[in-house]
Amino acid sequence: MRRKIRIPIAQPDLTGRENEFVGRCLSSSWISSKGAFITNFEHSFASFIGTRYAVATSNGTVALHLAITALGIGFGDEVLVPDLTFVATANAVTYTGATPVLVDIEKDTWCISPVEMEKKITRRTKAVVVVHLYGRPASMAKIAELAKKYDLKVIEDAAEAHGAEVFVTSHKSLKKRKARKEKEEWRKIGSIGDASCFSFYGNKIITTGEGGMVTTNNKMLAQKMRMLKDHGQDPKRHYYHPVIGFNYRMTNIEAAIGCAQLERIHSFLRKRASIAQTYSKLLQSVAGITPHPRNSDERSVYWMYSILIDKPYPLTRNELMKNLEKDGIESRPFFYPLHTLPPYLLKDTFPESSYLSDHGMNLPTSTSLQDNEIRWIVSRIRRWA
Ligand SMILES: *Cc1c(COP(=O)(O)O)cnc(C)c1O
Repeated sequence: MRRKIRIPIAQPDLTGRENEFVGRCLSSSWISSKGAFITNFEHSFASFIGTRYAVATSNGTVALHLAITALGIGFGDEVLVPDLTFVATANAVTYTGATPVLVDIEKDTWCISPVEMEKKITRRTKAVVVVHLYGRPASMAKIAELAKKYDLKVIEDAAEAHGAEVFVTSHKSLKKRKARKEKEEWRKIGSIGDASCFSFYGNKIITTGEGGMVTTNNKMLAQKMRMLKDHGQDPKRHYYHPVIGFNYRMTNIEAAIGCAQLERIHSFLRKRASIAQTYSKLLQSVAGITPHPRNSDERSVYWMYSILIDKPYPLTRNELMKNLEKDGIESRPFFYPLHTLPPYLLKDTFPESSYLSDHGMNLPTSTSLQDNEIRWIVSRIRRWA
């Protein structure tokens, strides 16, 4: 018998203007994929991330497929993908006909390892899909260097990282003085790669029910994606389709929910930071529990508050999860390493990814989570320590 869940792993907060905006779609009958909320959502999202363009899609998986296709990647090409991620990252590569090449992750970030990446680069390697796992940014500076050295496209899978930031030093050449000036600044995840993909599934940082977005600064790429997501139709000639496209459009109703969510994203992010801080403080002294590594040049958005369980903590990860479930506390194990899933099975070893997958779990991280609930969750974890 399934016990009643008292504290869910994730729950969307729809208490803003979602109802009002959706009502406007219904009363105006603009419920399909044309309407003011779509352009509004795209513009506001691009401005939030800090890119010139944002192209809305029907979910995060097709956002990835659209971006990779529009970048010209397909049959015969290889695309580097981290071994520890949600399966959609690799599937999107497979849909294009290209081969996902799995790369181990690094201990310091839990994201794709630049060192391991370089070992897997061949003449066929065209791109890397960088996943910012559980909301924590990957090593973007090192990845950008490799991409430059080997002429690789960088696609960010930012499905779990809306609002995450990295501190970067960019070299800006000032045309007038022909001088190079170093500029140090915080940049949003999703503004660094050639194209970046977001998901608005119900448990993500902001939601539209189902939905996705690709952000980019490349005008041609944005235009190509707009065309491809609308059946490959020439925007100037109705029913003229120069290429085979897809129907990957977002609806106005979904975008209406997105607009209402985006109005409150800053408060969502503040709340998540505070939840993470509370968890970290309370779990600090528990031997055998390690939180997501932090660094001064990155800001995670804590899509999930993640921990690793190992000795001397007396329970295994699975035992702890079972006990939390008895208390009505929902938790999730980390993803299976892709190399252990039937479609991507490999005999190679991926030590870091395998370790994290065996020992990692996510604790409830909804924006509606109360301090006393966090204290209760932690007290149930500490009980065994
Ligand atoms: C959620 C997620 C996706 C897929 O997004 P959907 O909107 O569910 O299609 C892709 N990659 C990662 C890392 C995700 O977490």
